[in-house]
Amino acid sequence: MELGGREVVLGMDGRTDGHTDRRTDEPGAQNESPESTGTSVRPPAGPSARLWLKGAPPIPGPGLAVTSPEPRLLGGDLAALDSIEAVAERIRTTYCCGLCPQRTKAVPGEGDSRARMVLVGEGPGATEDATGRPFVGQAGQLLDSILQAIDVPRETVYITNIVKCRPPQNRKPLPDEIAACIPYLHRQLELIRPKVIVTMGGTAGEALLGARKSLGELRGKVHSYNGIPLVVTYHPAALLRNPNWKKPTWDDVRIARQLLDR
Ligand code: URA
Repeated sequence: MELGGREVVLGMDGRTDGHTDRRTDEPGAQNESPESTGTSVRPPAGPSARLWLKGAPPIPGPGLAVTSPEPRLLGGDLAALDSIEAVAERIRTTYCCGLCPQRTKAVPGEGDSRARMVLVGEGPGATEDATGRPFVGQAGQLLDSILQAIDVPRETVYITNIVKCRPPQNRKPLPDEIAACIPYLHRQLELIRPKVIVTMGGTAGEALLGARKSLGELRGKVHSYNGIPLVVTYHPAALLRNPNWKKPTWDDVRIARQLLDR
């Protein structure tokens, strides 16, 4: 199906899409719980057609409402970093936890510093660690397809992670690593102030909402982060492992997409 001049096949119905038959050991792949297989949904074509809206669920009711803590890190001067690039440079040039000395490259995030949508994953994987860029491995390719399918070009969003350095063997980041790194994310969100935030995977949803709840409990609601609507969905790496989660993800991202237009 044509979208912006490129063929896009998400395979939300579980059919071949070039991703589903691959194994993945990317971060975020391990911490999702199963949901039922959805009905057949083909992604839309044509940026102005809003075909993604066809069959989309209505915007659900409110969930949790949280406010970010003061950005306190590294001497408490995070608030003095007044641009996305200044935050990125701080991340690249300092250590905040035990993950940092092991990194090849820190992965601060990338995209439009005035993005209307910010997407948050768990932590860099091997390709991200090697390149310093978020979501550029297999999971990143699937994320690109998802964004295309809702008519949101990757270059218009900001993509980042809860922790900015790769955990060894792509294990889940530990609570103290998250606690040390998450002030950067709070500051990034404060500077960008997007219209909608999408967290991908249980770790990202839990960490940003400060909630000890499962992904299943956090999905299907519009949470509020400092007044910004926040939608929780599956991690793309988890979709590579279990295509049954594509349909609920497709529903979640279409909710987020509707919030962009609100
Ligand atoms: N998985 C993540 O959570 N983040 C990335 O940047 C890549 C894979």
